[in-house]
Amino acid sequence: MRVILLGPPGAGKGTQAQGLIAKHGIVQLSTGDMLRTAVAAGTPVGLRAKSIMERGELVPDDVVVAIIADRIDQPDAKRGFVLDGFPRTVPQAEALDRLLGERGLKLDAVIELKVDEGILLQRIEKRIADMTARGEKIRSDDNPEVLKGRLFAYREQTAPLVGHYASKGLLGRVDGMAAVDDVSAQISRILAPAKAPRAPRKAGRKSTAKAAPKAAAMAAPKSKSRAGRRRKSKAAMAVKRTARKGARAGHGPRRPGAKTSQDSAKTVPGGG
Ligand code: ADP
Repeated sequence: MRVILLGPPGAGKGTQAQGLIAKHGIVQLSTGDMLRTAVAAGTPVGLRAKSIMERGELVPDDVVVAIIADRIDQPDAKRGFVLDGFPRTVPQAEALDRLLGERGLKLDAVIELKVDEGILLQRIEKRIADMTARGEKIRSDDNPEVLKGRLFAYREQTAPLVGHYASKGLLGRVDGMAAVDDVSAQISRILAPAKAPRAPRKAGRKSTAKAAPKAAAMAAPKSKSRAGRRRKSKAAMAVKRTARKGARAGHGPRRPGAKTSQDSAKTVPGGG
């Protein structure tokens, strides 16, 4: 499974990433953590990134893309990963599309954690207080002044990714202001079709397996009204009737994603 968590600083991406790695046995790839490790180790990347991060600005795309390209090739990322903090700009998203395409890999979903920016500052202040109480070192960019810069960078450079992934049908939205478990449950619902095994097709019977709907469609609320359900079932009956007629005439409707005998038949040049 390959998932991106999208959301401003303090939205809870790290917390949700932890839940996903425990549940799905995948790895968390956090460019923020990787960059902080590089800064602490004083590597050339770290030296380049240090002052940029302290100002709450974004490290150049080429630097983070190179880090991620290297990381997704590691053996522990083969089962899948959750990207937290990457991509953060449209060029980074395009680079990721290329990197995955070259490896024949696909994203399962991009999950946007929607949050109220006014509350974020309070969340980060609490994080600082909790870490201080535990005697942990505070991130140099975890202070109200730099946070404003990080939020600005998110709004200007990262928020456009919502459109990038929505247009690919990959975007799912969750309410990041809800309780942690509730947010996790919303994410699980979006990811359910990605990990659900397809029902085996039984010979001689019509398959009941549906093509996995895209994440965005799954996140959409269902119509609960009685009239809506009645309209829906009438429409479904009409479709079934047409399908039966079509099947008798030898040209049934093609379900999206369903294979026809033509699809699976190999073309033999000159043959028949
Ligand atoms: P946040 O809690 O703000 O989301 P992160 O730990 O993800 O923080 O990132 C901290 C800092 O590291 C960012 O403010 C930025 O300077 C740098 N950084 C992390 N990921 C990226 C990225 N994909 N592109 C550019 N800069 C990044």
